[in-house]
Amino acid sequence: MAVDLLPYDDRDGFIWLDGALVPWRDARLHVLSHALHYASAVFEGERVYDGHIFRSRAHTERLHNSARLMGFEIPWSVDVLENAKREVLQANGLKDAYVRPVAWRGAEMMGVSAQDVTIHVAIAAWFWGAYFGDGTEMSGIRMKTGRYRRPGPECGPVQAKATGHYLICTLNKHEVEAAGYHDALFLDTNGFVAEGSGANIFLVQEGKLHTPTPDSFLNGITRQAVIGLAEKRQIPVVERSILPEEFARTTEVFVTGTAAEVTPVAEIDDYRFTPGDITRTLMEDFRAITSTG
Ligand code: PMP
Repeated sequence: MAVDLLPYDDRDGFIWLDGALVPWRDARLHVLSHALHYASAVFEGERVYDGHIFRSRAHTERLHNSARLMGFEIPWSVDVLENAKREVLQANGLKDAYVRPVAWRGAEMMGVSAQDVTIHVAIAAWFWGAYFGDGTEMSGIRMKTGRYRRPGPECGPVQAKATGHYLICTLNKHEVEAAGYHDALFLDTNGFVAEGSGANIFLVQEGKLHTPTPDSFLNGITRQAVIGLAEKRQIPVVERSILPEEFARTTEVFVTGTAAEVTPVAEIDDYRFTPGDITRTLMEDFRAITSTG
């Protein structure tokens, strides 16, 4: 059986759970955990390139910040979690991998209110290849606008990488996958372009990069890195509200994220794009910085 097809609860290896490495299959929680019922959990997704976690500390700091936005404090410092991630990679013999830290409210209280519960933390890691499948890094992915929209900052803590935000990601992604597409485009509640189901989006118009202001979605760590790379190349970057009709005068589109890295987009609904110089340059520049930092 291919590694990817093994269920995630039945593998060899070790997972860091509440302060210590435990055998993979023993990293369990109770069915009456608050997080399972009320989505009181935050998580991270990080990529490891040749043993080096890209922007590792920024991810751990975001995990801490996500928890605070959700009203709880992670009982392990950033330094402790940084060490724990390295321990997990070493214990599992991983050099090119994906790291998944997760923190959640435990089982002492069951109900919407859970002021006084234990906060748990786990860190797992596993081998992970290209997110959208082989070939898409050259030809581009096919996207379709999903039915559900990204709620605005008046609806919740949009900068928290919180499990609850992913309910509609899974729904939109399932909807468009059933129609043969790779990923869903999210609009926000005002009808502006927001992001993909797990990645931020960039458009090229007349040699400039345009990207939605991250006011209803995660300001991704990859997004911030790519903006820095574009600025180094003196490619102007404009953050603003973008209407989907603008795809008609957009020549290139790509998405960015830890899993997606920099992936060109070939199609969104009835619009077509061809990966061009700017996308290719930023893909190469991104590849170059992933091993150094
Ligand atoms: N938006 C969503 C909904 C995501 O899940 C992710 C992946 N964490 C991103 C954007 C991109 O964020 P990052 O570059 O930090 O991985």
